[in-house]
Amino acid sequence: ESKKIKNNAHIFANTMQESYLRNISIELELKKALEKNELFMVYQPQIDQDGRLYGVESLARWNNATLGMVPPDQFIAVAEKSGQMGKIGRFIITRTLQDIKEVQTVLGVVFQTSINISVRQFMEVGFLEHFLHAIQESHMSKVSITIEITENLLIEDIDYILPLLHDIKKADIQVSMDDFGTGYSSLSMLRKLPIDELKIDKSFIDTIVEDEATQKMVQNIIAIGKNFNMQVLAEGVETKEQRALLHSFGCDRFQGYYFAKPLLKEDLIAFFKANEKR
Ligand code: C2E
Ligand code: CA
Ligand code: CA
Ligand code: CA
Repeated sequence: ESKKIKNNAHIFANTMQESYLRNISIELELKKALEKNELFMVYQPQIDQDGRLYGVESLARWNNATLGMVPPDQFIAVAEKSGQMGKIGRFIITRTLQDIKEVQTVLGVVFQTSINISVRQFMEVGFLEHFLHAIQESHMSKVSITIEITENLLIEDIDYILPLLHDIKKADIQVSMDDFGTGYSSLSMLRKLPIDELKIDKSFIDTIVEDEATQKMVQNIIAIGKNFNMQVLAEGVETKEQRALLHSFGCDRFQGYYFAKPLLKEDLIAFFKANEKR
């Protein structure tokens, strides 16, 4: 028995060490990722109640020569901890605007674009100034841009966050609360925030068809959204059944593999064209 514990402890120490070493390689490789042109963005379509393709969410991808494809939740976390988020965040904003401008020009349409903003990135001095400057440089319309924040942001100084969110709104940029229902946020807090959209976390959508308790929870989230005049988007919709149920609950917007995976800009153009024909 004690040998087993020892072995487990050994395995535990090993995996600890492995993930520690992996995070160090991620940190070191990430420092060179931008100049090596290894980072790029993909775009996942967003669909409204009538099945119309109205927008996209931009998602970061990193293909490193030695580490391979590193998932964004991994490298974003490392970027946050190692003080690299400012630089990478600015790349994400600039590249997204550049790509979307190009896609919109090819298609001759304007669509909504959501950009994920991490906590460190949001809290960085001059975040909004840089963002507005980047939009100005891209000659894109501000009203079609949304920033996605998470409930984690609310742990930070609310006296700093709240006025900044109002400035963002005044600048005609929309705000979406990502992964809603998984973190720390109270109704009284939510009511105070100038939020346009709630994104119901995928974990709820995963079990919605089988689990009645989840159905009630999702119906409640949709009701909260309606009461606060927010649009409600369900993320991670993978099946027809999930979409139908969410639609019957009055969910406004949908995103997930059922409609499309995150796409390279070339594939996004093709997807838009195919969607137009329907
Ligand atoms: P998120 O913002 O909640 O993004 C949704 C994630 O769910 C994306 O994973 C997306 O590819 C995935 N997804 C969407 N629909 C489906 C589906 O139907 N089924 C399944 N299984 N997955 C689906 P991804 O791209 O790996 O991103 C993971 C997380 O990494 C994001 O979660 C976000 O927190 C972070 N992230 C990604 N790109 C960025 C970025 O540009 N900036 C920041 N700050 N964070 C990012
Ligand atoms: Ca998101
Ligand atoms: Ca999300
Ligand atoms: Ca999520």
